[in-house]
Parts: sequence; C-alpha cells; structure tokens
Amino acid sequence: MPPAKTILLIEDEPAIALGLTDAFGFEGYRVLHAARGRDGVALAQREKPDLVVLDLMLPDTNGFEVCTQLRLWSKSVPILMLSARSQDSDKIRGLDAGADDYITKPFSVGELVARVRAAFRRAERGAEAPRELVLGKARLHLAGHTLEVDGRDEALSTHEVELLKLLFEREGETVSRDEILDRVWGVQAINSRAVDNFIVKLRKKIEPLPDRPQHILTVYGVGYKLVR
Ligand code: CA
Repeated sequence: MPPAKTILLIEDEPAIALGLTDAFGFEGYRVLHAARGRDGVALAQREKPDLVVLDLMLPDTNGFEVCTQLRLWSKSVPILMLSARSQDSDKIRGLDAGADDYITKPFSVGELVARVRAAFRRAERGAEAPRELVLGKARLHLAGHTLEVDGRDEALSTHEVELLKLLFEREGETVSRDEILDRVWGVQAINSRAVDNFIVKLRKKIEPLPDRPQHILTVYGVGYKLVR
C-alpha cells in the first residue's frame, strides 16, 4: 500500500478543525493541523504535506497571505481555500494568490472530501504530463512552473500551467470557457469572466504582442484556441 497522503489543515475554528480532521482521517489521510497562519506555513515547510486546506480568516494573518507564502515553498501543492465569504472578487483573489479551489462555508464535509480527492487526481494527472512545451518563442517548463522567453524566466501559477496543458492537449481546437473552468479550477465554477482576465494575464507572459495574440486566440462567444 502506498504511504498515506498528508493533508495540512490551517483553520482556527476548533469545531471545523476537529470535524475535518476526523473526516480526513476516516478517508485514510494523515492530518496535520495549525490554528494560525504562520504556524501553518512553518509546518508546511517542515512536513511537506501533499495538500493544504486553508481557511481565509485566521487570527494572525489572512489566507491570501498564507497562500502566497505557501506558494514560495511549493508551486504545485494543491491548496483548497475555505471561506465564509462568497464574493466573486474573493474567489478570484484567492485563485490569483495561488489557491487551486475555493469552497464557501457552510459546506458539507462530504463535498470537501470529494474536492480533496479531485485535487489529488488533478495533481496525479499533472505528474504524468510532458515536462516541456514550446509555443513560439516561449518554452514552458511544466514541472518547474516556469516559462522561458528570450532567455528570461517567468513564474507560472498552477492554474496557468493547467490551462496551458489543456490548450496544448487540444491544440488547434476551440476549448470552451466552461470546459476550462471545469478542468483548470475543478467543478465549482468561478464565473467565466475570471477565465478571460486570466487569459489576458497569461498572454502578457507568452505573447510577443499581447494585444494581438498569435498563440492563445479568442473564439468569440465560445472560448479559446491554442496555435503554435
Ligand atoms: Ca477562521
């Protein structure tokens, strides 16, 4: 049997922390718990968990900040953000900070466990994918989450890497916004405008002329298409 996967839970509410620790334990995961953001970051660096469940509202710092810190330690560890807020702007900010998924409280424990499983599946799919892709002058190093353009390196977020992998898989075909949301962010939809904003940022990293894209093309009313 493979060793149990470790989940780091960063959550200050004792009842939720206890409930989730039980539920994850029941599913066979090993659980580490921190009630404060800074302790969570330290624990992540020391124990290298396989996935992080991160509450947005913490006593010492907020989850966005913790997420950014965690991304300095690992570009690829799946991070699921928990929040009492359901504003789209918070979701977008959380995803921009490097979270892979965003779940609004109150949530069902069953749903969260399902999301955790889905995040692990996505991470495993990622591990099997090719390591390097070339797009015009840009060379993507998928494992390192970096992009090399004209000799300089740019960091890529987990979502940027997932999106590029999806577009490459379907090179020359139109991929709809809904499919992008489903594959890159998981089942829970943020709105499709977030996809458009995301593409704009990604083009700035990849396209020689971001306003006149040659590689990541808009298919109006539908989605996007990658051409080399
Ligand atoms: Ca909290």
